[in-house]
Amino acid sequence: MGMDKDMDLIDEDGLRLDGRKFDELREINIEAGILKRADGSAYLTWGKNKVMAAVYGPRELHPRHAQDPSKAVVQARYNMASFSVPDRKRPGPDRRSVEISKLMSEALEEIVFVEQFPRSAVDVFVEILEASAGTRCAAITAASVALADAGIPMSDMIASCASGKIDGHVVLDLGKNEDNFGEADVPVAIVPRTGKITLLQMDGNLTIEEYEEAMELAINACHEIYDIQREALKKRYSTSIDSYEDLEEV
Ligand code: ADP
Repeated sequence: MGMDKDMDLIDEDGLRLDGRKFDELREINIEAGILKRADGSAYLTWGKNKVMAAVYGPRELHPRHAQDPSKAVVQARYNMASFSVPDRKRPGPDRRSVEISKLMSEALEEIVFVEQFPRSAVDVFVEILEASAGTRCAAITAASVALADAGIPMSDMIASCASGKIDGHVVLDLGKNEDNFGEADVPVAIVPRTGKITLLQMDGNLTIEEYEEAMELAINACHEIYDIQREALKKRYSTSIDSYEDLEEV
């Protein structure tokens, strides 16, 4: 961000490096419930990002001094695999993953009915298997589906997407080169049913008009992503019914 531009990010037809229009998302696929041993899980691909989310809980929180007698604590952990980026990433937490884990925990606590589970923890693990810009949005989106898949009481899911600015234009869902050589990146997350904003960050600079345009793009995209999240849950549910019918035929 803010780097000297040494790459054209938009061609003469107004298309981006990967052929997308300004307001177009990368392709997103979500599959719910693919890990047997987690209480809930989701696997998400978003462009070249590959993300696995797993949920455990609610269960008694240890150590006990970390318990909250009035509610459950949502503990999200965002981790990038060593092999997720072109140069091997040093394993273990760093400043960036600690920051993203914190903002994920805070966002997800907005939707879980935490008052129903005093002294408990809801653990959310997100592994970034391949990273190509926008992984925090991908992580929140996948984690929400995994929470719903775990059957944890919640008011809604959270959908997340970034917008930003490249070559002087406000665009949706920055890819890797756009993130590196663009002018701004604005990750946003909302609770779609209420419109409440649960994540808003800005890396780079925008005018107020550009900021408003970027927010509108990101929020509209969150509603599209919400449909994909719900489809993933519906598909999971219908698959269960199918396998039940298979059993009856035996
Ligand atoms: P986000 O993934 O949410 O966009 P950043 O803006 O911090 O978060 O990172 C942008 C992208 O930079 C990541 O998606 C990833 O592709 C790349 N990246 C992040 N951390 C590293 C790292 N330690 N080594 C190499 N690439 C990284």
